[in-house]
Amino acid sequence: MRYHELEVAPPGHADGISTHLAKKRATHGADASLTEQELSAIVERAAISFGEFLTALGVDWKSDPNSADTPKRVANAYVFDLWKGRYQPMAKITTFPADSYNGHIFEGGIALDSMCSHHHQAIVGHVHVAYVPGKHGRVLGLSKLNRIVEHFGRRALIQERLTVSIHNGIDKVCEENEGVAVLVDAVHNCVRCRGVRHHDSRMKTHMFSGLFDDPAGPARAEFYELIRGIK
Ligand SMILES: [Zn+2]
Repeated sequence: MRYHELEVAPPGHADGISTHLAKKRATHGADASLTEQELSAIVERAAISFGEFLTALGVDWKSDPNSADTPKRVANAYVFDLWKGRYQPMAKITTFPADSYNGHIFEGGIALDSMCSHHHQAIVGHVHVAYVPGKHGRVLGLSKLNRIVEHFGRRALIQERLTVSIHNGIDKVCEENEGVAVLVDAVHNCVRCRGVRHHDSRMKTHMFSGLFDDPAGPARAEFYELIRGIK
């Protein structure tokens, strides 16, 4: 499985890869990645723009020792941390033969630190995932489920698109699977800290396929039972 095959959004889209990475891949091949110098150039340009943003807001940031390096700090945080999944490839995903195992493979409570594309505010919560490999299909190393969540979470997405991205990523990597289930349960700072300012509301989104498709079927029930088991 090649990294770019996991992408569900077009390049430059808020939840897709960056336009810089898309251009590089168009000229250097689908698996090309950005060099350190190219990433530094993105940080430098973004820092200048963020400084102008602060100036427009009436902040004399250059003369405040606490804020003088803030544009650079913010740009670094976006490129190397908060939006890392837009600039850097996901770690290589290795799969193994399922060896006739056809039960659920479940991982719950995967930490999610993400950001909404509407307000650039934090989305914090947990992701629960499960899949059933085909008898002659493939299984993932366990941490790769975390890697898929981390990769797509480190972008600016709405939660609905994040749920689809994680689902489709697992579905593609686990070839010939018999079903994939994803549930994202998160708190949005754009609801907590601005606008309606409600602290206790949570958002849950799910996506199911294959054996999990039937709302009244045993696979769906077992998925929810496994989630209850981790609390
Ligand atoms: Zn928002």
